[in-house]
Amino acid sequence: MTEKKVIIETGWNLDNSYARLPESFFTRQRPTPVPSPKLIVLNHPLAASLGLNLKELESNDGAAVFAGNQIPEGALPIAEAYAGHQFGHFTMLGDGRAVLLGEQITPKGNRFDIQLKGSGKTLYSRGGDGRAALGPMLREYIISEAMYALDIPTTRSLAVVTTGQSIMRETEQPGAILTRIAASHLRVGTFQYASNFTTTQELGALADYALKRHFPEVDASESRYLSLLQEVVKRQAILIAKWQLVGFIHGVMNTDNMTISGETIDFGPCAFMDTYDPATVFSSIDRHGRYAYGNQPHIALWNLARFAETLLPLLHDNEDQAVKLAQDAISDFDELYHSNWLAGMRAKLGIFNEEPQDESLIEELLRMMHKYGADYTNTFRGLTFEKLEDTVLFGTTEFTQWYELWQARLGRQQEPKASAQQLMQKSNPAVIPRNHRVEEALEAAVKHGDYSIMERLLDVLSCPYAHSAKQAEYATLPEKSERPYRTFCGT
Ligand code: AMP
Ligand code: MG
Repeated sequence: MTEKKVIIETGWNLDNSYARLPESFFTRQRPTPVPSPKLIVLNHPLAASLGLNLKELESNDGAAVFAGNQIPEGALPIAEAYAGHQFGHFTMLGDGRAVLLGEQITPKGNRFDIQLKGSGKTLYSRGGDGRAALGPMLREYIISEAMYALDIPTTRSLAVVTTGQSIMRETEQPGAILTRIAASHLRVGTFQYASNFTTTQELGALADYALKRHFPEVDASESRYLSLLQEVVKRQAILIAKWQLVGFIHGVMNTDNMTISGETIDFGPCAFMDTYDPATVFSSIDRHGRYAYGNQPHIALWNLARFAETLLPLLHDNEDQAVKLAQDAISDFDELYHSNWLAGMRAKLGIFNEEPQDESLIEELLRMMHKYGADYTNTFRGLTFEKLEDTVLFGTTEFTQWYELWQARLGRQQEPKASAQQLMQKSNPAVIPRNHRVEEALEAAVKHGDYSIMERLLDVLSCPYAHSAKQAEYATLPEKSERPYRTFCGT
């Protein structure tokens, strides 16, 4: 991939390797200019790590770039083509309201996609207006950055600008554009597009591109496409285990929202679970619980099977052999997911070594949490700081018995109690983006132009394992409401 001259003043150092793929994978598309861009939020640490000049980004020129009114030098704006299974149904998709400006090569030599989301119509917009509303873009900013701070692979948010244009949703909303940063925007859906709408040769070009970009350690042997499948299975197993461990519910795990890099992408209807219940669903359109918390590992596997299908022509000339290779690779998912989840759960309970009964100890805790409607995050937080009265389980005989078993288990490892407690602090967040806190921040921002609540929220979410005094109030639960929390996508 070619080197470009670094442009000192702005820091943009863009390459366009995706645009060197066969033309069927994208269309050239400039963002549609907007009347009056205004910078709402800028991610300073992220901008610095990308090698961008903060002063420049905070100026009018910066806002113009984030709004798509000015194209930075070296950019080659395109909309990516992809397809995908949405709630199990296959359809042609593509960036319907996003434009990839290019790939920023950072001072450390890493490559990140710079994408404007809400930047106007493209060839793939179907009936949509190509735009995005301020509330949902700020929501993506808050939750994606919270995920990053929780140490979960994720696309990130560099900036949000308002456009000066109103857009119509259920009501009129201020229009906004989010600048999304991603290891790439390659999705399972990109491969489904290649497999259904291009040639085997072009599919091979895409697979080689994905290997070079995300798995450069895989050598160029004939079995490299099998390695690609195995590596994506591994990354997704790690990712979904991390989601489960913090109670993150993605909400719309369609195959176009599953990355090859293993990053979380698309924060439309996602939300964090409060009361532990595997059946938890927040998305208003997920009527049958396809994407419920407890179903996420199963759906990830289903999506990976769709990915594997696209690779069959590359895996082996003999179709039966290809299917066998794909099935073997896919069947690794359950074990990979489970071992990552179990390791994470052990850490959440301060356990360093392995005993066969650990899993039943964990399952018993989860069973009680479900039975008594315990808050997922706060239960682990209560256990970490031995503030058992903070958990609704406290006082039940079942819990007392479990607690003794757990204490005995901690006593059977070499590490002292203090080390176990440190491990628990690192593994159990003090804060998550609780739904009522996120809503409160968005309401102040969108309705009243008051960004101070969001800024405070972003601040406490930026170090979730700090367990600092200022985070304590963010652990409180909302007043019980009559209606369950609901989220929406495509907004
Ligand atoms: P999502 O549910 O965000 O994964 O989006 C599914 C598809 O709908 C993607 O191809 C999006 O680009 C497209 N899309 C979502 N909202 C809009 C919009 N307002 N205008 C055009 N396309 C959209
Ligand atoms: Mg999407």
